[in-house]
Amino acid sequence: MGAIDELVAELARLPGIGQKTAQRLTFHLLQQSRERPERLAAALAAVAARVHACDSCGNFTEAERCTVCSDPRRDESLLCVVEEASTVMVVERSTAFKGRYLVLGGRLSPLTGVGPEQLRMTLLKQRVAEGAVREVILATNPSLEGEATATYIHQLLDGTGVRVTRLARGLPVGGDLEYIDGVTLSHALDARQEVP
Ligand SMILES: [Zn+2]
Repeated sequence: MGAIDELVAELARLPGIGQKTAQRLTFHLLQQSRERPERLAAALAAVAARVHACDSCGNFTEAERCTVCSDPRRDESLLCVVEEASTVMVVERSTAFKGRYLVLGGRLSPLTGVGPEQLRMTLLKQRVAEGAVREVILATNPSLEGEATATYIHQLLDGTGVRVTRLARGLPVGGDLEYIDGVTLSHALDARQEVP
């Protein structure tokens, strides 16, 4: 495969980018000065080499622990469980939440072969077992799989004595928290409800 075809194929693998857009981006890069594609390549290489999951929460970080986990002012009694690290960014932008996070790394999805072992359930149990967490806020997506994941975690934490809450209803069903604005999300956090 030639270099052009290879780049088109790589770009087309990204979410939301089809073959046509991949071609358009490739030709756009080719028309730029040599420096532009080189800068893009360097940025990609830096991310691949330096960014990894935080040891204590799964959020992306370049250090051993992410900025949230290493901030002593964060309330460690509140643990917000999200599917993806991108949701941490959304919640952080809303500035309503002062607790800590646990990034599952996906959602339960029997159809695509994602079970509890593929998610950070062990890390979650470990964080709760450490004893500082008093409330776990389930901020999984308001989708079928997100709900199933929340139900699973609720059962997983049964008997641990921690309070388990879920974001308030009113978020668009089937929606993705990644695309929800900060105000809506902070309202859903404020109005969170006890999981029955
Ligand atoms: Zn962290």
